Amino acid sequence: MSKALRPVLIRGGRVIDPAQSLDQVSDVLLHDGLVAAVGPNLNADEAEVVEAAGQIVCPGFIDLHCHLREPGYEAKETIATGTAAAAAGGFTTVCCMPNTLPVLDTAPVLESLTRTVAAQGVVRVHPIAAITRDQAGRELVEMAELNEAGAVGFSDDGACLTDSGVMRRALEYSLLVGRPIIQHAEDPALSHHGVMHEGPVSARLGLPGWPGMAEEIIVARDIALAKITGAHVHVAHVSSAGSVDLIRRAKAQGTHVTAEVTPHHLTLTDDLVAGHWWSATASLPPYDTRTKVNPPLRPRADVDALIAGLCDGTIDVIATDHAPHTIADKECEYDEAAFGISVFETALGSIMSLVQTEQLPLVRAIEALTSGPAQIFGLDGGSLAVGAAADVTIFDPEREWCVDTSRFRSLGRNTPLDGVFLPGQVTHTFVGGKPVYQSATEVVS
Ligand SMILES: [Zn+2]
Repeated sequence: MSKALRPVLIRGGRVIDPAQSLDQVSDVLLHDGLVAAVGPNLNADEAEVVEAAGQIVCPGFIDLHCHLREPGYEAKETIATGTAAAAAGGFTTVCCMPNTLPVLDTAPVLESLTRTVAAQGVVRVHPIAAITRDQAGRELVEMAELNEAGAVGFSDDGACLTDSGVMRRALEYSLLVGRPIIQHAEDPALSHHGVMHEGPVSARLGLPGWPGMAEEIIVARDIALAKITGAHVHVAHVSSAGSVDLIRRAKAQGTHVTAEVTPHHLTLTDDLVAGHWWSATASLPPYDTRTKVNPPLRPRADVDALIAGLCDGTIDVIATDHAPHTIADKECEYDEAAFGISVFETALGSIMSLVQTEQLPLVRAIEALTSGPAQIFGLDGGSLAVGAAADVTIFDPEREWCVDTSRFRSLGRNTPLDGVFLPGQVTHTFVGGKPVYQSATEVVS
């Protein structure tokens, strides 16, 4: 099938491929679904030419954490809409969490999802299977069978696996399949119905708080279990400064722990819940449920620690935790609203806002979206090496654009960034050499 694809010549862009320590103005030729050549003045008569002067050309982004909602919650998102939104955000590979209906806890359910992806998906999708049956926290799934069926990791995300004995056994079994156990670190005895960060803002607003220590206690425990078992623990959506410290020390001691951070935890703070004026045309009233996310947005000191941890490699990767919801899921009291933000289509903009303000080096940002995630989960992709699959993202690092949720590919319009201007816009996304996204403004200009 790929033989019928027209070759693509991406001309004159700044090619950044951290996997090869490459950062130079270059052409990139895509042919037969693969990267055929990277270098100056490439020629291919029959190729479609994409002029990329002034733009960044990099491996397609890889997201280790998203919620595609299918099967079971198709009003929130489907494989078709979720992968289209991923493509619009520059993602060419995404790993989807198992908290669907049914839960991804058996090989047949996983295989059925894989068939839906083959029929409807526009980017590569790797499922993450549950750690325990029905994510109930008690009985382990058949890891070997799920690994065979394509699971790239195991997680009860949405909930924390709190039982230390079950977690220990999960880690021991994970060694047999060579896949990570991904933890949503939240001690429910401490986060207990909390809906935002526990601190002065929650006290002022009269909302129940979910303190950083509820995350840190689980991170500390899981590091101890990873050390004892020699297994790989991956900490999902790290949000607190204390967790960053724990992970930094564990890595220094050689414990196999990796971690991710989301674009929103890197850029937004808990005071947004009290209301915020972004600009004359974009604002959040107090108690806006679009700010409600799990783990919650934290204060500035935590955000600064997360950025520092990402810069120094303590936090390995950026993952979106794209969590689309319906309007009804969010149009209610703050206490009752669903947790989660629709992130795919704003991720790069949020990250580039950190690059633009010199808080995060551009090459490190791209590494945390490409070779970093590929490496820690052992996935193909994340490089523009000759012969690699032609998964490529092109973006304009300077272009400012306004977030308009009415134009989202995602069914989830739940983002506090609606109406906000962000820098850095994806212009083209290719999966296996096939164009899966091209920005509308690019077509017009
Ligand atoms: Zn989670």
